[in-house]
Amino acid sequence: MRFRAREQMTDFDFIVVGSGFGGSVSAYRLTEKGYRVGVMEMGRRWTPQNLPGTNWKIWNWIWRPGLGLRGFFNIDPFRHVLVMHGCAVGGGSITFANTLLVPGEGIWESGSWAGLADWKAEMPRHYQTAIRMLGVTENRIMGAADHILQRAAIDHGAGKTFYRTSVAVFEGPEGEAQGLTYPDPYFGGAGPRRTSCIGCGGCMMGCRYGAKNTLDQNYLYLAEKAGARVFPETKVVDVRPLEGSPDGSHGYEVFTVPTTRAFGGRRRFSCRGVVLAASALGTLDLLFRLKEKGSLPRISGQLGNRVRTNCESLIGVRVPGGEDLSKGIAIGSGFYLDDHTHIEATRYPAGSDAMGLLATVLTGGEPGRGRIALWLRNLVSSLLRHPWRTIRILHPFGWARESIILLCMQTLEGHINMRLGRPWFWPFRRVLRSHGRRIPTFIPQANQFARKMAQAIGGTPMSMVTEILFDVPGTAHILGGCPMAASAEVGVVDSRNRLFGYENIYVCDGSVIASNLGVNPSLTICALTERAMSRIPPAAGNP
Ligand SMILES: Cc1cc2nc3c(=O)[nH]c(=O)nc-3n(C[C@H](O)[C@H](O)[C@H](O)COP(=O)(O)OP(=O)(O)OC[C@H]3O[C@@H](n4cnc5c(N)ncnc54)[C@H](O)[C@@H]3O)c2cc1C
Ligand code: SF4
Repeated sequence: MRFRAREQMTDFDFIVVGSGFGGSVSAYRLTEKGYRVGVMEMGRRWTPQNLPGTNWKIWNWIWRPGLGLRGFFNIDPFRHVLVMHGCAVGGGSITFANTLLVPGEGIWESGSWAGLADWKAEMPRHYQTAIRMLGVTENRIMGAADHILQRAAIDHGAGKTFYRTSVAVFEGPEGEAQGLTYPDPYFGGAGPRRTSCIGCGGCMMGCRYGAKNTLDQNYLYLAEKAGARVFPETKVVDVRPLEGSPDGSHGYEVFTVPTTRAFGGRRRFSCRGVVLAASALGTLDLLFRLKEKGSLPRISGQLGNRVRTNCESLIGVRVPGGEDLSKGIAIGSGFYLDDHTHIEATRYPAGSDAMGLLATVLTGGEPGRGRIALWLRNLVSSLLRHPWRTIRILHPFGWARESIILLCMQTLEGHINMRLGRPWFWPFRRVLRSHGRRIPTFIPQANQFARKMAQAIGGTPMSMVTEILFDVPGTAHILGGCPMAASAEVGVVDSRNRLFGYENIYVCDGSVIASNLGVNPSLTICALTERAMSRIPPAAGNP
């Protein structure tokens, strides 16, 4: 494919759906190649001035526009998993915890992408490009939670695997005071000014100090500067081949609706190619609807299969009255508990305690009624024996200052499937629903580690109430559903992210990931998108 850019009869050469990791990389690389690019993003644009001070301001934190909540953080409950994801210009980068890690090479040997390319030879250069563009550096700002994790890792006999995270944060020159503003340190003056990180722990609430390298400060910033047009608060609801061509070879029409206005505003755009980058859930939801209503009927029947949760579990330790555990970078450090289990020390900034509403005391045992009964028994006996201490660890106020969240991830195989369906409690609308075998709600060795850590620092081990009551784990890393594979019989996109059955539709987001990475996935999403974009030739007339 080599469009004659700027002479087309279409509104854009490419429309990119979503402005997260896959979307921003695509927008920048396509603009750089001389294409006219439009980016449709259903979330809002955020600046240090309009980001909320704490997550108690839920109208500026949670995204549920139908209820008047217009934040950047989305939380979607499914039967098998509670999914947390971002929604903003810049996608998940606004709320993400900055940690960008290269996974082990073993991930390319499992799942439907195994053998499709010489991944181990090809991927390092794309990871390097993404690392440079995102300004990834080793974290220098260790908070109290990181020191506690290091001591606990040593006690566990895994001290050698302890590491400071690689983070997309501008930390400033070594030895200089923090909080100082510098001219663009990354793109030879073409990028925005940056302010060095003050280690406030607020990254998951959006950085109000200009230190976090969110996508609107690098890839998307440069794309817009080079002419890409971003349409915030604009949701794509339909994509149809132009002129009735069955495979889209004449281009596409893309229909959008506004997300923050109740009435009117349906718009139509035309383009030659589409990049779907709406995140695993967003792309699945859109593609299912397009397949079912006949807009893109050729989409593979594998759609929605092999959705992965990165085998995650969110547990933690709360230490009332101790040192302030909210300082540092949102994820400042990590270590490997065993060959398959990776744990990171995570935090919210002081005052952002709303997540504490989901925390409860860690309870072992088999999932189900037995564990609920055990949990209730433990709670009642704790309330009778130590009423004040129990209330102290269960009420949310002060939770962020007093808690280390342990983000546990595993590389083990395991997945669920997603389909559109009507929930029994709200049968008026078809929505994504999860199917398949349950995902384990806890990782026994991680729970044991949390208990030992709590004992060592005089705290209480905690877990999420959804894990105990509903046997549902939480994840911030939902992946897969449009797996990369050799054919439409096995997957949804090919090894260059092209949607089977159509010309010039690419899928570039977490949905194409074909194995559990065991580390935070955003860097891999960027690197795979860099690879896909590197195969698209420049626009005709562009060198
Ligand atoms: C609290 C939190 C912390 C995290 N921390 C880390 C971390 O430290 N490191 C890491 O690697 N990962 C982290 N993640 C995960 C990371 O945010 C995601 O893996 C990543 O953002 C996925 O990238 P993506 O390109 O698939 O989509 P996203 O970045 O999610 O972007 C997709 C965008 O598409 C938009 N969209 C969806 N549907 C439509 C539509 N129909 N029309 C228009 N727009 C649409 C969405 O609003 C969204 O902005 C974290 C996630 C959360 C929630
Ligand atoms: S720790 Fe604070 S200043 Fe540093 S990147 Fe995170 S939010 Fe910004």
